[in-house]
Amino acid sequence: MLYICLNKKIIMSTEPKSIKKINLDELEVCWNDMHIGLHKIKTLRDECPCATCKGETVLLKTYVPATKFDLPGKYEIKNISVVGSYAMQILWNDGHDTGIYSWSYLQSLCECTNCDKIKSRN
Ligand SMILES: [Zn+2]
Ligand SMILES: [Zn+2]
Repeated sequence: MLYICLNKKIIMSTEPKSIKKINLDELEVCWNDMHIGLHKIKTLRDECPCATCKGETVLLKTYVPATKFDLPGKYEIKNISVVGSYAMQILWNDGHDTGIYSWSYLQSLCECTNCDKIKSRN
């Protein structure tokens, strides 16, 4: 089971205290402001912020109907590493590892029940 404890003593900004894969489909992120975030792993991959993924998405929307081949393991997390104090990098089972998820980006993707309520109000 994947579990990362960042173990920060000085709290400068909203950062995760821990990142945990709670089952095959979901990642739980405990933030230092007491927020318990929930992320569907599929959403994280679909919203991968790297240039390749975001670039292809734009192209697909503009020119091609969604006929893209998925490699096996596309929606499986192999490893997560923390980048500096501002982001995390996900290594996927299909070998993709260029997505850097900043904490603020991660928060904007949060799918916990509280955040879902806030989003549906807008
Ligand atoms: Zn949330
Ligand atoms: Zn990507």
